[in-house]
This record gives sequence, structure tokens and C-alpha cells, in this order.
Amino acid sequence: MTLLDRLIALTLPLVPKPIVRKVSSRYIAGETATDALRVAEGLNARGIHATMDILGEDIHQIDQAHRAQKAYMDLLDEIHRRKVDSNVSIKLSQFGLKIDKNVCVDLVDQLVGHARELNNFVRIDMEDSSCTSDTLQVYRELRGRHSNVGVVIQAYLRRTMADIATLEDLKPNYRLCKGVYIEPRKIAFRDMRIINLNYVAILERLFKNGSHVGIATHDEIIVWHAMRLIRELKLPPSAYEFQMLLGVDEELRDLIRAQGHNLRVYIPFGPDWYAYSVRRLRENPRLAGYVLKAMFK
Ligand SMILES: Cc1cc2nc3c(=O)[nH]c(=O)nc-3n(C[C@H](O)[C@H](O)[C@H](O)COP(=O)(O)OP(=O)(O)OC[C@H]3O[C@@H](n4cnc5c(N)ncnc54)[C@H](O)[C@@H]3O)c2cc1C
Repeated sequence: MTLLDRLIALTLPLVPKPIVRKVSSRYIAGETATDALRVAEGLNARGIHATMDILGEDIHQIDQAHRAQKAYMDLLDEIHRRKVDSNVSIKLSQFGLKIDKNVCVDLVDQLVGHARELNNFVRIDMEDSSCTSDTLQVYRELRGRHSNVGVVIQAYLRRTMADIATLEDLKPNYRLCKGVYIEPRKIAFRDMRIINLNYVAILERLFKNGSHVGIATHDEIIVWHAMRLIRELKLPPSAYEFQMLLGVDEELRDLIRAQGHNLRVYIPFGPDWYAYSVRRLRENPRLAGYVLKAMFK
């Protein structure tokens, strides 16, 4: 990233919302489930799986969690009705994790149960480090009752290697990503070289433990290492998939597919687009160009 990109990333909260909306539209399917289902169907037609995320986090009242659960239940029904190849990704904070953990567990438990009836799967996204322990604990509790639920772990966290050791008995279905939240140095590695080394070390350990891994990255170095490990360990396609975000590096997506690997695209949608958009824009190496162009158009 250039200095200007970094400066704009830092001052994003000052950028007018309509500009943020405009430059982040490539990352979001739209405001409704119909928009997301249409995008997923387009991807499915090209042999790509999908996962859908109804945007919205940091809720303040527990009835918002009930509404989120209802929206996800309806989404699972629509995925089933339209025979779309997609599972769902959820954030526990949207299900009330920080308001009432018991309610959160109940709501997610019902959702995962409903997904199982429809032969589908629920992925629990990982949020900032204030949620890590609770998220992993809720995941363990759910796994006592369901097998169609997976969780995300972040290679930038210093604790992740220890966390996967404690979950090893469950052989979890993981998504491994670098991690997107801004964390203090004592909690997360800051140096991208260390994050990458940790990513590859974690990936190798998960593969060797027999976990299914969603390799979530757009970093071609990580993709290269993942393909090397897949080859060396002679892993079947059922042991892993690559995962990428909607609107990011479609060329890499096609290169991965062309080599015959399974790939899933994360499709966020909904009216609560702002927090997600800011996280995506902060990672875009051409942020300044996009923002300036949108401002002067
Ligand atoms: C499917 C999926 C699910 C995820 N779920 C979570 C989660 O639950 N919790 C969490 O903390 N994080 C999650 N993330 C985000 C992840 O942690 C990283 O922040 C993000 O993927 C960028 O890291 P990277 O591995 O692509 O590597 P980077 O080094 O950040 O990026 C590699 C290259 O990809 C390109 N690129 C990356 N981002 C963008 C962008 N926004 N716009 C344009 N180009 C870009 C650039 O060319 C960049 O040089 C998820 C990512 C994916 C792909």
C-alpha cells in the first residue's frame, strides 16, 4: 500500500458514507436475499460454491438477535427451495453473544438444527479478540449436538496454535483466515511475514489432524503453500476448499478453479453494509485511487 492509501485507510471514518457505499459496492451482493441468491446462482453456474452472510453485527437489543435468526432461517429455506449451492456464515455478536450468551447459544442451536434438516451447514465467523474465547466455547458446545457447524480461526492471533490444540479432539471443520480486526501487538502478530508463516504452520497442522479446512485468502503466496501441502500430503478434494470474498481478485479465483480445486465465495448482503465495507476497503491496495475517483465523479 502507498502512503496515500494508508492515509485514506486511517481516515475512512471521515469519508462521506455515499462515497464509501459507492466504492465498496463490488464487495456486497445488494440489500436483499434475492440479490445474494442471484449472485450465488451466477457463481454456481461456473462451478463455484457460495456462503452467504447477512450483514449486521454489534447489536444492542436481544430482539435484534431474534430477528437475525429469523432472517437466516428464511435464507436457509430459500437456498433449499431454489436449490442453490450455498451454506451460511454468521457472526455470534449478531445473535446476541455480548448481550446474553445463553440466548445466543439457543438461537444458533436452533439455526444449526434447521440447517441440518435441510442438509446444510452453518459457519461461525470469527470477530475481534474480545469474542475469541466465547466463540470457541460456543462452538464446542454446539458440536456436542451437531456436526454441520464450523468455525473460523485467525492466523494473526498469537493464541491460535494453542486454540487448535485444545479443539483437536473435535476435528473441527475450520475456515482459516489471516484476521481482519485491528488488534494490539500483544494479542496479534503485526508483521505480515510472521502472519504468513503462522498461517502455513497452522494449515499444515490442521491438515495433518484431519480437519476439513476452508483456505480463506487472496494471497497468492499462501495459495502456493496450500497447494504444495495438498500435493505433499496427497489430500483428496474432500479435505479442503479455497475460499475468497466477493469482489476480490477474480483472476486468482479463476486460476485456482482452473487447477481443479473446490472454491467457495463469501457473499455478504443486507442494509447494514457500513462496518463490513470499511474492513474491506482498508485492505484494498488501490483504495486511494477508488476513493478519489468516486469523490470527483
Ligand atoms: C472467505 C473469507 C472469509 C473470511 N472470514 C473472516 C472472519 O471470519 N474473520 C476475520 O477476521 N477475517 C475474515 N476474513 C478476512 C481475512 O482475515 C483477511 O482480512 C482478508 O482475507 C485479507 O487477507 P488475505 O489472506 O487475502 O491477504 P492480504 O495479504 O491481506 O491480501 C492479499 C492480496 O489480496 C488482495 N486483496 C485483499 N483484500 C482486498 C480487497 N479488499 N480489495 C482488493 N484486493 C484485496 C490484494 O492484492 C492483496 O495484496 C475472511 C476472508 C475470506 C477470504
